[in-house]
Amino acid sequence: MSFTGKGWLLGAVLLPNCMIKTANIAGAGLGGLTAAIALARRGVRVQIYEQSPVLDAVGAGIQLSPNAVKVLRALEIEPSLRPFAFEPENAVIRNGGTGAKYVSLPLKGAAEQKYGAPYLHIHRADLHRVLVEHAEDLGVSIALNQRMTGYNEAGFHGVATADISIAADGVKSPHATQMNENQPARFTGQVAWRGVIDAAQLPPNTIPPDATVWTGSGQHIVTYYLRAGSLVNFVAVEERTDWQDASWTTAGDVTELRRVFSGWHPRIETLLRAVSDVNIWALYDKPELTRWSDGPVVLLGDSCHPTLPFLAQGAAMAMEDAFVLSDCLAQASDPQAAFRSYEAARKPRTTLLQQKARANADLFHRGGPFGGQLSLAKLNVARMLPAGLAARPFDGIYAYDVTQIKT
Ligand SMILES: Cc1cc2nc3c(=O)[nH]c(=O)nc-3n(C[C@H](O)[C@H](O)[C@H](O)COP(=O)(O)OP(=O)(O)OC[C@H]3O[C@@H](n4cnc5c(N)ncnc54)[C@H](O)[C@@H]3O)c2cc1C
Repeated sequence: MSFTGKGWLLGAVLLPNCMIKTANIAGAGLGGLTAAIALARRGVRVQIYEQSPVLDAVGAGIQLSPNAVKVLRALEIEPSLRPFAFEPENAVIRNGGTGAKYVSLPLKGAAEQKYGAPYLHIHRADLHRVLVEHAEDLGVSIALNQRMTGYNEAGFHGVATADISIAADGVKSPHATQMNENQPARFTGQVAWRGVIDAAQLPPNTIPPDATVWTGSGQHIVTYYLRAGSLVNFVAVEERTDWQDASWTTAGDVTELRRVFSGWHPRIETLLRAVSDVNIWALYDKPELTRWSDGPVVLLGDSCHPTLPFLAQGAAMAMEDAFVLSDCLAQASDPQAAFRSYEAARKPRTTLLQQKARANADLFHRGGPFGGQLSLAKLNVARMLPAGLAARPFDGIYAYDVTQIKT
């Protein structure tokens, strides 16, 4: 990795130290690892407990919007990611049947200029590996096969205590449920099929070099490239009420995927013909939680505000949380004051983005009020707008720089 001890010292951004000395984190996901790095860089000794027996990330892509890249830049992680990333030309919304464009917003080069950081696509395994390497280089310890089951006034059950305990343990967090008894995660009635295909298996130019949403009726598909264009990632979302599997992710049947999405644009049918493996994820949501902290325990990322993937902002919000929490712990006089400032700084934005993501399901699925006519009208209006106006809904999300906000 390009992260050498010397280069690190020379390039380091000086962040004020935290008033706490030790932190436990449940979950080595994208949020937990970013929090570990942000805290370790502020002088905190961090121990992560991860339930999984291996440090591994799901084999699919992730879109990192400029607001997320700004966090990774401030933590000096961005240069290690760039060799594995793909910078899309545009963000595009198309009709999934005809291929006609509703919206096309320039991203490559333009995002850095307009929002202060690039828009990147990256394989989750690459992002996860880079975060683990940075965390371990900073002395973070990661214990595997360690499922945290709840907490008391000293922190997580069954482990050595620390000054604070961060529950970055995802949408089904037992800690969030203990803290907010009547607000469990609930199935949304939507599932996402996800897979990655070797781009060389497809005829040239099958998939445009954009971040593309292909809209449908009760369904949509997202396509984009990874690893310098050598892989194509897809997420195919379908409304479905019959999810029976107790787990929330399971291997999918490729024949069924092709059947469910048959009759789509020929480019999509060509893409789906090339798929050999696919997973299905049940999509879960939570209402705005009443509590984000209790004693020494604080929630972060999907555990407190799962964000449906229709805005590509869930991981971005977890990373923003991580930066703000570490900042609040450096500014406040005690952890509880820091947790209060953290929640006050984060909740309005994460709640708003959760709502925007939910609303995008109607837009992309041409559903919602008046039998979906309102969604269709919005898409058709967007088609006629100049790019600057059509980009308005994204400006506040991408221009936001959490590393510059005073907490
Ligand atoms: C189909 C799909 C596409 C998406 N695309 C994007 C995108 O393009 N851009 C974007 O920003 N976001 C995207 N997201 C959202 C993003 O994946 C999540 O918001 C993000 O992963 C949340 O990070 P997290 O660290 O909070 O939780 P998670 O990633 O869920 O990590 C939680 C970790 O905690 C561990 N864990 C769970 N319970 C325990 C326990 N009790 N004890 C110890 N460890 C535990 C888990 O094993 C896991 O490692 C997408 C989501 C989906 C489903």
